[in-house]
Amino acid sequence: MADNERDYRLRTRLIHGKMVSTHWDYRDHIVPPISASTAYRLESAERGAEGFLEFANPEFNRETHPPIYIYDRLDEPSRGMLEENLEIAEGGEASVTFATGMAAISAALGVLLKAGDTLVAHKTLYGCSYSLFTNWYPRLGIKTVFTDLTELEALERILRADSNVMAVYGETPCNPSLELLDLKAIADTVKQVNQSRPPRRLVFTVIDNTFATPYCQRPLQFGIDLVVHSLTKNIGGFGTDMGGAVVGPKLLEPDLLLYRKDFGGVLSPKAAWPALVYGLPTLPLRARQQMESAQKVAEFLEQHPKVKRVVYPGLASHPQHELARRQMLDFDGEFAPGILIYFLLEGGPDEARQRGVRFIDHLADEALSITLAVSLGQVRTLIEHPASMTHAAVPADRQLEAGIDPGGLRLSIGLEQAEDIIGDLEAALAVA
Ligand SMILES: *Cc1c(COP(=O)(O)O)cnc(C)c1O
Repeated sequence: MADNERDYRLRTRLIHGKMVSTHWDYRDHIVPPISASTAYRLESAERGAEGFLEFANPEFNRETHPPIYIYDRLDEPSRGMLEENLEIAEGGEASVTFATGMAAISAALGVLLKAGDTLVAHKTLYGCSYSLFTNWYPRLGIKTVFTDLTELEALERILRADSNVMAVYGETPCNPSLELLDLKAIADTVKQVNQSRPPRRLVFTVIDNTFATPYCQRPLQFGIDLVVHSLTKNIGGFGTDMGGAVVGPKLLEPDLLLYRKDFGGVLSPKAAWPALVYGLPTLPLRARQQMESAQKVAEFLEQHPKVKRVVYPGLASHPQHELARRQMLDFDGEFAPGILIYFLLEGGPDEARQRGVRFIDHLADEALSITLAVSLGQVRTLIEHPASMTHAAVPADRQLEAGIDPGGLRLSIGLEQAEDIIGDLEAALAVA
């Protein structure tokens, strides 16, 4: 490894990765080749034995010690190089990728929790994370306590009252309400409580950083232990492949690798490659452009008479705008409020819901620059109605308390010209 690697700025390092990767020697290529081999030639029984001995063994650092590849489900070079670059992006010691964001979330919590343990989770969550905690964890004997992680005293009270809490989990910005969690305050609260816990019973903090992306926010810098990502979204960036990643301390890497090997949710090298070659290197450029448009679109929506409320961390009206300015910062330390906007249409619950349907249907029929679809973080602008789409798993009577309004709409800004996005919104609002 070149000694001066760290002197380069993050944006450059996401394009070039490591100067020399232990995962693959491809000095004749500019672009890393896609690896497509499920198994690897081992040359001798001894080398095979060595490979099994070294896999997920903390004595053999896969960053500095060339891994002996055996079988794709254990370790593999394209994925390994993507993992190196995700570590760079988040400023983490280790990264392990997974087939999807949900596979990454279940692995991050899977290595931290066992039967009898308690998970503390923020009340507003990605729909499938909520479903994982409420439908599956009870079967595994894991209890989930939902709380408002913006209330730090309540968090501390829960942690002190239940010595079985082993992880605290949240998203910021939250999906879909775009409420923020104070990362440093949460990390500090948990660290304070950890001082009175035995070393093997420390509480870990886990943050889903999918919405913000590592370009706009790096939770580990604020003392958070683990970051999880859906690579399917902004990091992949083009909407072609699914993937997930965990980034965190080296000490959890062996367990994450073993979990991936045994539960089997590996990221295919053919899906790792686009994230490595197209996604991460263009993330800063895409995010900058999308945030510039998002600010314009948010300001347009905010002054529109049929819009009751716009939530965008870049607007001074965001209730936690100050917090956003503290923790949502790009690689150069500039304010980076993200590419997602949440807004509510005017009217009581029934009227707003009907308006929402007219609005969405008009966009689906007439708009070129805005597509009605779930997912986010693509080159295309996407709009969705969380109450009936992504958060349908959250029961209707729980939706409001979980921050999901019946008339709320989530907009993920793409790379189209901002004026076209605004034009399509204006036409749909006229009939809504
Ligand atoms: C999409 C998403 C996930 C799940 O990712 P998949 O790749 O779809 O499994 C998790 N958290 C957030 C915030 C997401 O947007």
